[in-house]
Amino acid sequence: MHNTPDNYDPPQRPDWDEYFLMLAKLAATRSTCLAFPVGAVIAKNRQVLATGYNGSPSGSAHCISQGFCYPGLSSCDASKTLPSRAVHAEANAIAKAARHGISTDGASIYVTLEPCIYCLKLVIATGIREIFYETSFNSGEKAALRDTFISEGIVEFKQIQLSENTAKKAALFLLHPTSVLKDSIS
Ligand SMILES: [Zn+2]
Ligand SMILES: [Zn+2]
Repeated sequence: MHNTPDNYDPPQRPDWDEYFLMLAKLAATRSTCLAFPVGAVIAKNRQVLATGYNGSPSGSAHCISQGFCYPGLSSCDASKTLPSRAVHAEANAIAKAARHGISTDGASIYVTLEPCIYCLKLVIATGIREIFYETSFNSGEKAALRDTFISEGIVEFKQIQLSENTAKKAALFLLHPTSVLKDSIS
């Protein structure tokens, strides 16, 4: 039997919340809307069920390809009257699960942005009970409605961030070939 050396410092691994948040961030890199990138991951029992990012519905022109969300409008969020062309990341992840017959009941969702009220209601309606988010979004009466849902016990919110260690490790993994012997990365 071998004992762990006294001076051994094990490599740090991301915890599960960081792991799924990182996957949500990676999903956000596929965003096709000019407003801002958002990514979502639905997970249950430490297993990814579906992922999504914000963008126009599959088959419709992408905002980033057109160079505008609407002609003369730089972002889907820049108008008070025109509806956003984007399906939000959470809705896309839920739609993906629906298309593939995957139950989201009792699952958690990880999002880079707190769900808007419409997505929040959809998330709750699909049986997701836990929302992990990176950046806050709702304010005023929308935040009040969110807080009502929380106080009714039908959903839980937790704001999370990647630790600096995890973010640095992920950046190294992304910037270099990942599965090579340590000595060959200089
Ligand atoms: Zn857009
Ligand atoms: Zn939304």
